[in-house]
Amino acid sequence: METEPGSLVQTKVNTNYSRLLNTYSRYPVEFSYGNGAYIYDETGKEYIDFLCGIAVTGFGHNHPGIKAAAVKQIENFWHVSNLYTSTPQETLAKKLVHHSGLDSVFFCNSGTEAIEAAIKFTRRWGKGKYEIISTIGGFHGRTYGSLSATGEYKYWEGFEPLVPGFTHVTFGNIQAIENAITNDTVAVLVETIQGEGGVNVAPNNYLNELRSLCTEKNILLIIDEVQTGIGRTGKFFSYLHEEIIPDIVTAAKGIANGIPLGATICSKDIAKEIKPGNHGSTFGGNPIAIAAANKVVDLLNEEQLNKIEQLGKTIMDALHGLNISEIKNVRGRGLMIGIEFIQGISAKDAAKRLLEKGFLVGTSGETVLRILPPFIITQTEIMKFLLAFRKVISDISGKEY
Ligand code: PLP
Repeated sequence: METEPGSLVQTKVNTNYSRLLNTYSRYPVEFSYGNGAYIYDETGKEYIDFLCGIAVTGFGHNHPGIKAAAVKQIENFWHVSNLYTSTPQETLAKKLVHHSGLDSVFFCNSGTEAIEAAIKFTRRWGKGKYEIISTIGGFHGRTYGSLSATGEYKYWEGFEPLVPGFTHVTFGNIQAIENAITNDTVAVLVETIQGEGGVNVAPNNYLNELRSLCTEKNILLIIDEVQTGIGRTGKFFSYLHEEIIPDIVTAAKGIANGIPLGATICSKDIAKEIKPGNHGSTFGGNPIAIAAANKVVDLLNEEQLNKIEQLGKTIMDALHGLNISEIKNVRGRGLMIGIEFIQGISAKDAAKRLLEKGFLVGTSGETVLRILPPFIITQTEIMKFLLAFRKVISDISGKEY
């Protein structure tokens, strides 16, 4: 006997009825084991993971070094409050400061929390100035501050009114940002590549110009590196491709290879405004996540970062070389790649067919297939993917590629 949803009366109902809230449209596949770039479902079928949990498991599944670090921490203890000293947190913070060019780190559990912290720190620094300019198509998370910064109506629908003080302008257009600045503007918040918005890469020099504009107007530049950061594009943070330093950087997703962790990294000027009690988190900077993240960051050396950039070029060149007329555009950087199809070719359909063939990929909107392979992907696995992809497009289009 089960209880009907919304009823206290016990009646016989379909036991297949999911009691999970309907927030995701899920593929009917359940995984039981992962190793490196490979993951296996309950039937033992093998898949190559070209999605990485949406840019999370950069070093693949079951990475021996990362696993050992997490297991060692579990064996010692797995939680103490942030009211006590943590040398591993200090160590990770120093590494993030080194890579970012910034000064101080706040640890939380997710991307959206990292953005919330960034918004709060920004407002505190602004001393009354509160307007944040973000971009149309930008995605920053689902909690109210980050949802309000997110520049796409479909995420807001049914949840308004949003947090006041957010303006959205065209991505990649400096003039649009300049025009939106008012006396109340405190910051600009951007991704360097809009991930959820369609793998839209910022035009060359956009970040440089943004940096100059923000400095000139005495407003903060916040870069959301939740998806692009921690090596994904071939630099530790993607803004380093343009050699600028923002005022605040947010990171999450890949930082602990799948154990929840987020970080908000800020400049000295902002850090000095934050005092005990201004912000906090029970679980933020959890010891297991911090242990894994310390290992992840150590693995991301120059050689590994160059390899990521090179692998990305190999994949993008190969995709161009397929000469598939259903592909409108291939774009991205490092191992963050979008394949945009012409109208009428559904990215979701292509993703489903690739899943059947043993490949996990993502989508961004209707027509963009998103691939976010692990940093440990090999040429052989890339070749297997390209062959499967070509077959899928042949099947969809009815043409022989
Ligand atoms: N910011 C960016 C750029 C993202 O891509 C995401 C998630 O996709 C978020 C923020 C929110 O991260 P989370 O889902 O961990 O809250």
